[in-house]
Amino acid sequence: MPRITIDEQEIEVAAGATIIQAADQAGIDIPRYCYHPGLSIVGVCRICLVEIEGMPKLQVACYTPVAEGMVVSTKSERVQQARKHVLEFLLANHPIDCPVCDQAGECWLQEYYMQFGLYDPKMQEDKNKKHKAVVVGPHVILDAERCILCTRCVRFCDEISQTHELGIFNRGDHAELMPMPGVALENPYSVNTVDICPVGALTERDFRFKTRVWYLDTTPSVCAGCSTGCNIEIHTNTERTYKAEGRRVARLKPRYNAHINQFWICDEGRYSFLHVDADNRITRPAVRKGEGFEPVSWQEALRTLADDIEKTRHGGGKIGVIGSAQMTVEDLYVLREFSRRFLGGDKIPVHLRPFEEPYHDDFLISKDRTPNTRGAELLGFSVSPAGISKMLEACHKGEIELLFVFHHILGRGFESGYIDEAFAKCRQVIFIGSNEQATSERAHMLLPASTWVEKEGSFVNRDSRIQKLNQALAPLGESKPEWKILRDLSRVLGNALAYFEPGDIFAELAASHPTFQGLSLHDIPADGLLLSTTAVAGEPG
Ligand code: SF4
Ligand code: SF4
Repeated sequence: MPRITIDEQEIEVAAGATIIQAADQAGIDIPRYCYHPGLSIVGVCRICLVEIEGMPKLQVACYTPVAEGMVVSTKSERVQQARKHVLEFLLANHPIDCPVCDQAGECWLQEYYMQFGLYDPKMQEDKNKKHKAVVVGPHVILDAERCILCTRCVRFCDEISQTHELGIFNRGDHAELMPMPGVALENPYSVNTVDICPVGALTERDFRFKTRVWYLDTTPSVCAGCSTGCNIEIHTNTERTYKAEGRRVARLKPRYNAHINQFWICDEGRYSFLHVDADNRITRPAVRKGEGFEPVSWQEALRTLADDIEKTRHGGGKIGVIGSAQMTVEDLYVLREFSRRFLGGDKIPVHLRPFEEPYHDDFLISKDRTPNTRGAELLGFSVSPAGISKMLEACHKGEIELLFVFHHILGRGFESGYIDEAFAKCRQVIFIGSNEQATSERAHMLLPASTWVEKEGSFVNRDSRIQKLNQALAPLGESKPEWKILRDLSRVLGNALAYFEPGDIFAELAASHPTFQGLSLHDIPADGLLLSTTAVAGEPG
């Protein structure tokens, strides 16, 4: 391993590493536009110039490999001057429209200009005109005048999505980023180009001009869009523009996780938050009244339900449960305990989302669109569609009096008529979920559940990696996490499950289940933890 010196700091780096990688390892910041650790190296922007002892010319740090004994300066006077010139050159044709640019606040032209630009422009000529506000795909808009031709977006489409929609056309100062003729930027990962564009050339259609980025709060969490469990940041804005729109989540951004998604997320997952503040959110408990529902208090809803559970049990009737792999490990654990204590629980089936074959690939997007199927499996739930079929069949035969359904199951491989008939045979169907849809419409009682951005807990992804969700928002209206609904119901039933927060639930799980042994919810590392699942065989259902 070569030893080199950067800014008087001696470090040992892996052979073959470049100077910028060595500097990153040492925590020394070298500016960059075209360099991105997830893409190939092209060395076109020249902003990463450094001085190397014994070399007459400055060298690009992103392209130059380290060598034994190399002495590098990233802050010498020559380097500072060179950066200033490169920046001036990059901005020669830029419209300098920061006040109306949506990238302001997270633009690396602004950032570096303030850090080491601050030059008096010498450019006298008119700036080149290029294409403005070009809709290049369903989610992305291009302002070619702001583009610095770093080719990050082109390389993303060539190397990561491998869909090749973008290219640089023309030469010299007429060079311009554009989609290939007749082609739209609409691959399943298209918005990552916006994330990696270091300037305001590519912006997101859903997000642009809604808020300034400095008003956003950031919460690290996990995408609930499928069983891959990509790491994300939830950007929320509860105080300003979005509040007026009735929308609290401004956007989701990828968060680096070397084991799962590296730097990327898919577009479907990115927009999977739109239901959080949608008009069809269930915000209060409600009971059926004729064709519609009438809101009731939590107290009234839980009392009615508790009476019904007791009546059913004393009468020898059966109570069925259909869980959901959208629920967290903690929700499912409490459901299992609740069911054992009060419902005489059998092996509970959970439904996945959906049973049909949606788009999936061998990169990130899983066929299973639920985030916690593996967690459900580890807790002993039945995750095969056969489990749901068996439960619906029992309903059809009139064997189930009271049926709890968590989240939406219609369209999950069952005809709506079949579900209608199954539900009609039950005396009561209690729907616990976040949004009204076809399943909730067929229920007799609605209990509002929080969405995944409104709760803390954990998911286990398809590779058995457990990851922590962090609460970014307060539950909307009177909604609660599913574990809390069941805990509160257990209190009304007179035999309370003693959980006060998800950490308590996880602690009990860790004490009783070999796979989770010794873990604590709050100590799950930021990039998750691979569970050793060999101990699961024989775990009670
Ligand atoms: S649009 Fe952005 S990412 Fe693409 S080449 Fe231009 S500056 Fe780079
Ligand atoms: S691949 Fe799955 S987990 Fe990753 S962002 Fe897309 S939907 Fe979310």
